[in-house]
Parts: sequence; C-alpha cells; structure tokens
Amino acid sequence: MLKCKDIAEQASAYIDGEMGFFQGLNYRIHLTMCKHCQSFSSNFQAGINMIKALPKEKIDQDRIDAVHRRIKDSR
Ligand SMILES: [Zn+2]
Repeated sequence: MLKCKDIAEQASAYIDGEMGFFQGLNYRIHLTMCKHCQSFSSNFQAGINMIKALPKEKIDQDRIDAVHRRIKDSR
C-alpha cells in the first residue's frame, strides 16, 4: 500500500502517464481513500496545466537585439 509520501513523489510520473498499470492502480486506490492526497493531486494537476498553458516558444536574446537594432536604425 502506498503512503502519502509515495503519492507526493510519484505525482509527476502519474500525471505524465509514466506509470505501469499496477503502479497507477495503487496510486488511484490511495487517492480514493485519502482526502489529503486527493487535494494534493488535484492541486498538482492544476499547477501542471498552468505550466503547460504557458507559451512554449521562448524569445531568444538575438531576436530581441535585432528588434532593438531595427528600432534604433529607423530613427
Ligand atoms: Zn495520502
């Protein structure tokens, strides 16, 4: 049987679908019995969703510099 500590450690693997069938089953069984881990897990999932909703593309410094140069040149 999993402990609350195990749930905290495995939450990310569970959400990413990296768990085996039985490991995932044990995880869900614990959640159905443990209110604390239920709220932990849903908060964790909400946090992940928030991060995934952020734009993936990072603006690199070169592009910023190029824009700055263009603004300067246009004056
Ligand atoms: Zn628990």
